[in-house]
Amino acid sequence: MNRLGSVIAAVSTPPGKGGIAVIRISGRGAAEIADKVFFPKNKKPFSAQTARIAVYGDIKSEEGIIDDGIAIYFPAPNSYTGEDTVEISCHGGVLLTELVLEAVFTAGALPAEPGEFTKRAYISGKLGLIKAESVIDLIEAESRESVKLSSSQSRGVLSEKIDAIYNEMKQLLSSIYAYIDFPDEDLTDVPGSELLSRLKDIRDEVDALASTWKTGRAIKDGISACIAGKPNVGKSSLLNALLGYDRAIVTDIAGTTRDIVSEKVNLGRASLKLSDTAGIHKAEDVVERIGVDRAVEELEKSELIIAVFDGSKPLDSADTEFASHIRAARKRNPLTQVIAVINKSDLPAVFKDSEIKDLIEDAETLRLSACSGDIKPLADLIDRMFTDGSLDLSNDAIISNARQYAALVRARADIENAVESLKSGFTQDIAGLDVEHAMSNISEIDGLSVSEDIVDDIFSRFCVGK
Ligand code: GDP
Repeated sequence: MNRLGSVIAAVSTPPGKGGIAVIRISGRGAAEIADKVFFPKNKKPFSAQTARIAVYGDIKSEEGIIDDGIAIYFPAPNSYTGEDTVEISCHGGVLLTELVLEAVFTAGALPAEPGEFTKRAYISGKLGLIKAESVIDLIEAESRESVKLSSSQSRGVLSEKIDAIYNEMKQLLSSIYAYIDFPDEDLTDVPGSELLSRLKDIRDEVDALASTWKTGRAIKDGISACIAGKPNVGKSSLLNALLGYDRAIVTDIAGTTRDIVSEKVNLGRASLKLSDTAGIHKAEDVVERIGVDRAVEELEKSELIIAVFDGSKPLDSADTEFASHIRAARKRNPLTQVIAVINKSDLPAVFKDSEIKDLIEDAETLRLSACSGDIKPLADLIDRMFTDGSLDLSNDAIISNARQYAALVRARADIENAVESLKSGFTQDIAGLDVEHAMSNISEIDGLSVSEDIVDDIFSRFCVGK
């Protein structure tokens, strides 16, 4: 059944008790459905009320009046979905809201699927895919940075950049095809050198945009990180300092953390998917041994290892063994980065940073005191390593999800092919084909040309009522 022609309804406010709940109804005929449920005090039928003005009235089910509330009519196309939409606000009781929604279904609406309101907005051209994705990102945002990024995308900052790159490609293509299609006209062939330099400019722009994914990803997805080290160096203290509350048990008894404790932490601009691991050492106890094995596995899975050392005691064989696990993990996953935190800086230092660098090549070293709770230097270092500080999250175009990034990488490869074709002396129409592919990949980002599967996948992340 084609649901597009039907009227859908759902509760758009979160489930649970609240001051008010909003029931959203969308589709042609939404106002007529509201007529059967909502009875304005001014006696005029709801569908005859002035658009976009709040109307007070009674809400009725088949059993009679169940509540009073406010309803607003947003006729197409000036609504969130681009269709006729009615929003009824009733009191926010759990059962009451269900009864109002039930009355709307009895009047003829179908239950909305997750994300269906926003999907309809996309289908009716009210918003592109970037904006649709930014809606869900805004709802799910857990850090101020994430809110800034999603809000800039919902204002169209990234869409505008994508449009600009697309239009440059289009102009380039029309220069190529104008000459090929109308060779007898007075059109001059664009010199190959000019085409090449225009293509390279576009490639540089695509590269610059793609490079923002590092920052977008650190903010949106988060960096998988683990805190590791031998026992008693202050790993749990560091985790607690990062979280701002006592999540892990801190004692001077070795082996208290036996399993992996995982938490999401917003640190500086970036967000960390952080695991605290058992102290890595030669454990006798069986349960502890399992914890140690898991800790070693975690090293390999992490993009960032926060390797903790006790700066108040000389490095010993346990530190050397721990470092050898890090080296092994990096051999398997060379992209893993390491920050060596030399902890307990409130006590006199007994070894030099260079001794750590001898153990772990290119580790960034940082001295701090987890006990003091001052983790700003660590936050700043992570920001420097994983985000681009020159990017303005509110006003710069930033790629913030893997789908957008993948399309950009494909477009980048097409442009490179076009550059290579021209360099190897192929005719311009060959390069033109590559530019066409690049345009199609770029236009996928905002959903101008995108498969139904991808659209369905995006909207499946939404909740009912959005
Ligand atoms: P873990 O076994 O590596 O998780 O270490 P803990 O966080 O449990 O800490 C081990 C011991 O070191 C505890 O007695 C902590 O109070 C102490 N400790 C942790 N961080 C610091 C620090 O920055 N300075 C000092 N002086 N002691 C610390």
